[in-house]
Amino acid sequence: MQLQDFFEERLSRQTVFRDRNAITPHYVPETLPFRESQIRFISENLVELCNNKKSNNVFVYGKTGTGKTVTVRHVISQLLEFAKGKNLGIRSVYVNCRTHPTKYKVLAKAVQQFFPEENFLGFSSSFVNDKLISHAENNRHLVLVLDEIDKVRDLDELVYALTRANDELSRGSISIIGISNNVLFKERLDPRTKSGLCQREIVFAPYNAEELRAILDQRAKLAFNEGKVSEAALCLASALAAKESGDARTAVMLLLRAGEMADAQEKEIVDEEEVRQAKASVEEEIIYGMISTLPQQEQLVLYAISSLSSKDRGFTKISGETERTLFSGEVYEEYRSIAKQLNENAISARWYREYLSELEMYGLITTTASGHGIRGQTRLIKPAFDPKKISAAIQTGMNHGN
Ligand code: ADP
Ligand code: MG
Repeated sequence: MQLQDFFEERLSRQTVFRDRNAITPHYVPETLPFRESQIRFISENLVELCNNKKSNNVFVYGKTGTGKTVTVRHVISQLLEFAKGKNLGIRSVYVNCRTHPTKYKVLAKAVQQFFPEENFLGFSSSFVNDKLISHAENNRHLVLVLDEIDKVRDLDELVYALTRANDELSRGSISIIGISNNVLFKERLDPRTKSGLCQREIVFAPYNAEELRAILDQRAKLAFNEGKVSEAALCLASALAAKESGDARTAVMLLLRAGEMADAQEKEIVDEEEVRQAKASVEEEIIYGMISTLPQQEQLVLYAISSLSSKDRGFTKISGETERTLFSGEVYEEYRSIAKQLNENAISARWYREYLSELEMYGLITTTASGHGIRGQTRLIKPAFDPKKISAAIQTGMNHGN
């Protein structure tokens, strides 16, 4: 087939989508149901900037897929639009700290966006810092949105530099909106960083199945041609996502992939079957995304769990049903032996327990207390996904040098 014909054929193919972009995770819808109070809270803080006053730093946290990123982006874009109309000197940058995990990278990214025509490559940290401050000093209010802020390795330095700069500015201001999926992270912060960063804070709770359903209804109307998604498909996608800890991203991804599957198989409508098919691939994408950003030692702890579980040496329930449940102690031993094979120093048992809590918080494992059994009080651990998939995701990541 000629390439021209190929393009022609693809273009004229039937599709369930009206606007595929509207069902991708990056899309920011015009209205965000169930987030009115959060929108108000964040706006109340930022409105001070419109009065030419400094605003508080805001710390936003909650589990993955609770709408933190989309809500903050929504408020910021509304604020900037308002400021533009009134000629107010308010400017903002969005930095994903996962890809900019140091103070220098965050600041360089910020000045690069404020001065797109200049090139800051290779400039010193203090130069970049001063550039940002002088930009604010010109009577501008700068809002830095730092998403996945827990990924910044020298966060204490970053927060200290920004809050000190803000305090010293006589005109203009620099404020931070920090966002984190890691609900334990705040407790671990240095007290000074914590008080600087969390002047105001707000939690985003997981959505329930009904809320997810309403969110999906709204998106489906934008993204799909009329009548192309069945009621049953919407119900199933929201129920599956509600089970995955109320994660709207899972819901959105399920519907996107289900739509793609319907197109690929030349189906007229997206039905339950496509959603079910989509589940496996979405699960894999999500596991992979989560695992790839874990610190390496935490990946090794998870690897110990997934490889022990794959060996099926679990714990048998009294009912006779075999559950792949592992003892905390045996996992730690397995982890130590893996670390040794890789010539890595093993983390202490205290850190190991911290990592378990974190893995559980991310929804990668579940743990329960054993009660007073034969081995005394211990934590029982189970991977939350197919352990073979988890192992594969970690191996792929390591082969790519992460
Ligand atoms: P988080 O940053 O908390 O992990 P996101 O903001 O990335 O979550 O949201 C995940 C997905 O769900 C995105 O596609 C987002 O547009 C969608 N979403 C989340 N909350 C809402 C909502 N209240 N209304 C519409 N879409 C939402
Ligand atoms: Mg986010």
